[in-house]
Parts: sequence; structure tokens; C-alpha cells
Amino acid sequence: MQGLMQRTPLLLSGLIKHAGRYHAMREIVSRNAQGEIERSNWGEVERRAKRLARALARLGIRPGDRVASMAWNSARHLELYFGVTGPGIVLHTVNPRLFPGQIEYMLNHAEDRLIFFDPAFAPLLEQLAPKLSSVEGYVALAPREAMPETSLAPLHCYEELIGAESEDFEWPVLDENDASLLCYTSGTTGNPKGVLYSHRALVLHSYCAASADVVGLTAEDSILVVVPLFHANAWGLPFAGAASGSKLILPGPKLDGESLFHLMADEEATAAAGVPTVWFGFFDYIDKNRDKLDLSRIRLQKALVGGSAAPRALIKRFNETFGTFLVHAWGMTETSPIATTGKLLAKHAKLDREARYDVQAKQGRALFGVELKITDDEGRELPRDGRAVGHVKVRGPWVTAGYFKGEGGNVLDAEGWFDTGDVGTLDEDGYLTLVDRAKDLIKSGGEWISSIDLENAAVAHPDVLEAAAIGATHPKWVERPLLLIVCREGKLVSREEMLAFLSDKVARWWLPDDVVVVDSLPHTATGKLSKATLRKQYADYFTSRLAGAEAAAAPVAS
Ligand code: ADP
Repeated sequence: MQGLMQRTPLLLSGLIKHAGRYHAMREIVSRNAQGEIERSNWGEVERRAKRLARALARLGIRPGDRVASMAWNSARHLELYFGVTGPGIVLHTVNPRLFPGQIEYMLNHAEDRLIFFDPAFAPLLEQLAPKLSSVEGYVALAPREAMPETSLAPLHCYEELIGAESEDFEWPVLDENDASLLCYTSGTTGNPKGVLYSHRALVLHSYCAASADVVGLTAEDSILVVVPLFHANAWGLPFAGAASGSKLILPGPKLDGESLFHLMADEEATAAAGVPTVWFGFFDYIDKNRDKLDLSRIRLQKALVGGSAAPRALIKRFNETFGTFLVHAWGMTETSPIATTGKLLAKHAKLDREARYDVQAKQGRALFGVELKITDDEGRELPRDGRAVGHVKVRGPWVTAGYFKGEGGNVLDAEGWFDTGDVGTLDEDGYLTLVDRAKDLIKSGGEWISSIDLENAAVAHPDVLEAAAIGATHPKWVERPLLLIVCREGKLVSREEMLAFLSDKVARWWLPDDVVVVDSLPHTATGKLSKATLRKQYADYFTSRLAGAEAAAAPVAS
């Protein structure tokens, strides 16, 4: 027997309709490329999104077509999230930090018909334009007076394009399984693969992301969205924010510690979201300017941190500097992206601060809606005992069922599980501890060493800003860990000091064979350490050193 409830489809337009009606005056604050603050609100975002929807129809863009955005976080980019998807068109968010060749591949693969872009990206697009086979026009996200000088053609001015339309538009009723956004993942080898989100997946993800044990968003919250709108839907915050009526603070291109600190203070952010690297820069700025800054201006209650492991030292730092609870999240582009969050349980209430940080340093528990398990190489489920290490697999309504245009073939097993490529443990309470990405694990004499654990232990040193652990080839052990560290300005941590520091934090055989101090570490386009680059650069570090030592010890030929 079927239930007798209404079958209202779950559509992204439902979110903006709600925010426009019930939170119309709640602010959307953007910082533009010139550093000026621009103020809008949810009501304005909805009205302008409707004008945009009409303009797209006028340009002949039809439901199911793809249009791309190449832009930093701003109210205009947010309008695309709703104005493009509302009428059933697919918004392909492009990461401008990728290599031009990858961007060209993605734009052609997605068959984007239009590209909306920040004026600053005009030179990059000019370089690509002759190779783009489907693009019929470019729209600069700017008013007439800020239009770039460019050879891109035909070129539209966003403000004029939407200014020519009325806001008399009804959001159409679509099938909730229709596509809404498209985001390519760069995490794997080979060509980037497109994750095509349905309206339904993203609406369900918003309900969950906003809920108290996940981010916990309310109409009183002001969210500093540092995670880019081109990175896995900015972790769903634009949608969860619309559902909750939260104020959004969009930082534009400036993501350095100084810019973020002042924006966070001036706009009284209660919540913020970004990858760990961003927060290292933020605290580094605070450390260097301690005497000048009034830290009591920061009202941050929660920081959503993921994309790579949030070190325990960062969790502690947030709490002890501002009383901020760091919500450690894990997920990926393929999971919309939030799959687990590390909130505490009732049984943790009596734990002291240090013990609570230990819990928070785990990647967290599956959200309602996400099923999670770990398996051995043969796909057999492993126990949830906090010890067994296995492949992390997920299933659920906001997990991908396959990549755009079938790339990569069938990605689900017979029971619908998606292999995340991550390796970890699950404990009795369901907390996931990520050991590594399968390809980043360090294989030493048949045993695995977690690069994440080594890095977290290293960055707990007060003079270390950032650390990367990789496996370098070793003639006896296959691989041995090599630790690369970036020290704080004016500080130097020697190899001996670092090894002594690590000696009571990791197993003896995990201790790196060497520690190298570097000026900076390479990052991927999504702000993660680029282990692939480091592995290439340092692959022969131990073998060449050993060969050198042997050569030095060899008797000199007479
Ligand atoms: P990209 O590789 O393009 O950045 P994603 O953002 O989808 O793609 O990356 C997802 C991956 O990031 C996960 O599979 C995992 O390896 C890593 N990751 C995400 N969150 C965490 C976390 N909290 N701790 C450790 N690793 C994480």
C-alpha cells in the first residue's frame, strides 16, 4: 500500500524560494577582486537568479544543456547556483587553478555552451578559446565599468544580460532526479571525471549538512565560505545556508590569513569552512601579528574542516584561541561531498579537553543517509573495532552512481557500494579514522605506514608550519618514510630534533629515515598536499644517497 503524501520533487529552486521568502533580508556579503565589500541578500539573490534564468532562455540555452562558471566566491557566482539550475540547466563549476590543458579537456568534455567568468580569468580563457569546441559565448561576471579588455567573443556583460530581463519568472517543476551541477574530480590519475549531481541528492545533502550534528546551521549563523564554490559545491554550504537562512560571507579571491581574519572579524562570522592549509595561513598571520590584533572580535563557534586531515594541533588551536569547535569532515566530490562529521557523543561529555581533541581528530561518523563500511582486498567487510584497516566504501542518495558520459565504467559493486580509494578504520562507535589515500600509504617491508599520522604528529611541533610524509624507494624495505617540513619564519627544526619529537608519538619503525627542511610544499588545485609531485621529486632520495655512500666507501682505483 502506498502512502498518501504529496510527491513534491526535491529541487534546488525550492531552497532559493524558501530563502527568498523567509530570509529575504539576510545578507550575502562578497569581497570583490579590488577588496571592496559588496552587499546583497537572499531576496536579491532570488530575484537576480530569476532574471538570469530568463536571460539563459533568451540565449537559447535549454534544460539539460551545460554552462560553465570560472569564478571565485561571490554573490554573482551564488546567483548562478540557482539561476542556472532552477530552469533545469546544468552548472559546471570549473576550478581555475587546474592546468590549462585539464580545463580545456573538461570544458570540451562537458560541452559547455556558455562560460561565466570573473574578469581576472579573461587571459586564461583567451588562451583556451581557440580549442573550445562547444562554447558559443562568454559572460563576464561584472558591471559594464568593470568589463575586461579581451578578445573573447561573443562577450556579454552579466549585469546588462540580467538587467535586460524582468524577474517575472516561475521556477519550473522538474524531475528531482534531473541533473543540476557538474563538478570534475581531479583526485584520480588520468583525465578528470565528471560528477553529475541531481537536484534530489543536493537537497537531501542540504537538510543533512545543516542539521545539528553535522554543521549545525541556523538563521542566526553567518558562514564564512572559504571553500571555493568550484570545489564540490562549496561542501553544500550555499544550499544548506539557503535552507537555514544563514548569512553567507564570500571572500572572493583573497584567501590569505590577513584577509580572512579581518573578514571573519568585521562580518562577525559564527561558522567557517575551509581546507586545513587555509587555516595554517590564518593562524600564522595571527602568530606574527599577535600584539596588533584584537582576538576578541572573532565570534567563530564552529569551523568545518576537511578535504585533507585536520591535524589535532589545529583542532586544539581553534578551541584554545577562540573557543571554536572544529567539525572534522570527510568526503569527496563523489559524495556531494559530506559523508562523515566528527561531532561528539553524550559519552564524551565527561572527557577532558585533550581526550576530546583525540575524538575530534578522527574523521567522524557517517551522516544519516550515508552508509559506510571497510573491506579487505577481496571486498569482505572488516570488523568495526578501531584496528582493522580496510578500503572505505560508501553508499547513499548523495553518492555518485557513475561518472558523466560513463567515464571510468561501472564504479559500483553489485550491492551499490562505491570504493572511495581511501583506507581507514572504523571503531565501535562508528568513527572513521582515515589512514591514507590508498596510493599515499607508505609500504615499508610489507607493512603500511600512514602518511597522515606522520604529518599530524610533525605539525604538532610548535615551530613546524606544514609537513608532508611520502614513501621514497628503498633497496631493502621497498619504501621508507621521508618527512618534508616547512618551518615557521625565523625557526629551524633539525632532523635530530624532529626525530626526537616524533619518537613518543609514532611506532619506532614508522620514524622517517630522513627529515628535509623545505621552503614550501606543492599543493593541488584543491589545496591539498601534492604527494604525486613530491613522490616524483624525491622517489630516489634514499637510493641515490645510499649509492653515494657506497661510492664514497669504495676503494679508489689505482
Ligand atoms: P580532489 O582530489 O580533487 O581534491 P576531492 O576533494 O573529492 O578531490 O578529494 C577527496 C579526498 O580527499 C578523499 O577521498 C580523501 O582522500 C581526502 N579527504 C577528504 N577529507 C579528508 C579528511 N577529513 N581527512 C583526510 N583526508 C580527507
